[in-house]
Amino acid sequence: MAFDLRTIYAMTAVACVVLGMLQCAAYFTGRFERWLAWWSASNILVGIGSFCIALRGMAPDFITVHLGNVLTVAGCVLLPAAMRIFAGRTVNLFHCGLLIAVLSLPFVLAFDAADASLGRIAYGSALFCLLDLAVAWESFRLSRNEGLHSAKLAAGLFVTTAGIYAIRASFAVAGVLGDRNLFTGSNQVHVWMALSALVFLMLRSMVLMLMAAERTSTQLRDAAHRDPLTGALNRGGLAQAFDSLSAKPLAALVVDIDYFKQLNDTHGHAAGDEVLRAFASSAAGELHTGDLIARYGGDEFVIVLKERSLEQAVATAEDIRLAFTASLGRLNRPLSVLPTLSIGAAAKTSGPSDLEALLHKADQALYARKRQGRDGVDVFRDNVLAA
Ligand code: GH3
Ligand code: MG
Repeated sequence: MAFDLRTIYAMTAVACVVLGMLQCAAYFTGRFERWLAWWSASNILVGIGSFCIALRGMAPDFITVHLGNVLTVAGCVLLPAAMRIFAGRTVNLFHCGLLIAVLSLPFVLAFDAADASLGRIAYGSALFCLLDLAVAWESFRLSRNEGLHSAKLAAGLFVTTAGIYAIRASFAVAGVLGDRNLFTGSNQVHVWMALSALVFLMLRSMVLMLMAAERTSTQLRDAAHRDPLTGALNRGGLAQAFDSLSAKPLAALVVDIDYFKQLNDTHGHAAGDEVLRAFASSAAGELHTGDLIARYGGDEFVIVLKERSLEQAVATAEDIRLAFTASLGRLNRPLSVLPTLSIGAAAKTSGPSDLEALLHKADQALYARKRQGRDGVDVFRDNVLAA
């Protein structure tokens, strides 16, 4: 089957502009962040650039050579910028503009004659290869930092298109891509490369939307499993995270803040909220990777310690008490009621993990501590409670 290169450039132009407009409309619904505006601008610029190039021989060189290539470069520079914004990093608009201007110079100064197509293709393809590799690197970082599976797919797609551009650049240098005028004669190698680039262009935009959807669903799932005030897990989140814990042995601490009601009554609910947050962050600072902290109710928290004996759990509980006291000193308001912590500890050295049974034991130790005057750690040891 023989395709015409000019038609493929025109098809690319229409596809990119339509896609860019759709993304622009989606952005203006307010449901997406700024990265989509950048991605949409990139598609629209590449689309208009391809349209200008498709007019080669039918319109002035200024439009079909200079403007066409500069717009395409601008569109391609916006891709890594959009991915960077997606990753929550900053992009400086001035630097972006400067980069576009510098990278466009060879199109305006060196390969600007209408019949210098092969030089333009070689330079442009090498440039797009590097820009696609930059996007692939950003995607790879996203997959590593946020655990987004679709970001791995994006990285793979961008590495593939970078490969296509690298081959195109080397073919242009080797003279495999036809003669010095883009559309004279119909070089089928060039045609198939342009066609595959068009397909990948569409796939890349789709995978970006997939990344946005995956991120939203991860954030929703995370929000459903967390207490919004302290950021600790809620009961559902703890149950789910505990199920995926494979480590044995395990220890659990049930922590209740002492005199919390009195603190609320004296200093107000906002001060109580601050103390809850101070507890959660100071306790989290004493935990190891893989340990869990959950808010179980008003001022009651559960902490699961991976691969710790009862003795180690008690030591951690004492560290948490000290860290909590220190964190109260860092609050912006002086407290006349200074809350302390009562902690019950229990451990499981063998057998299957049963969260409820473990917490029941730690709870008994906690209530023993409360009965004995609060402010300390009690342990549950073989049905015998020890202080
Ligand atoms: P004890 O020493 O025996 O633990 O008693 P306590 O004063 O700490 O009181 P208790 O644990 O029985 O009550 C917990 C209080 O926590 C009751 C409730 O008003 C308050 N509370 C529950 N949720 C929140 C919250 O999200 N923010 C604030 N500020 N207070 C809360
Ligand atoms: Mg309490």
